[in-house]
Amino acid sequence: MAVYKCFKCEKKISHKNLEARFVCPSCGYKVFYKPRKVVKKVKAV
Ligand SMILES: [Zn+2]
Repeated sequence: MAVYKCFKCEKKISHKNLEARFVCPSCGYKVFYKPRKVVKKVKAV
């Protein structure tokens, strides 16, 4: 299950909502991004 974030208001939107209508339900913006779940930790020694 993918969750996207609105680029403008940063609300989380499930991709199911975006399949129906590719607009943000709260602000109407049409640009989204995928927040990274996995953050790689690199040890800089
Ligand atoms: Zn929005």
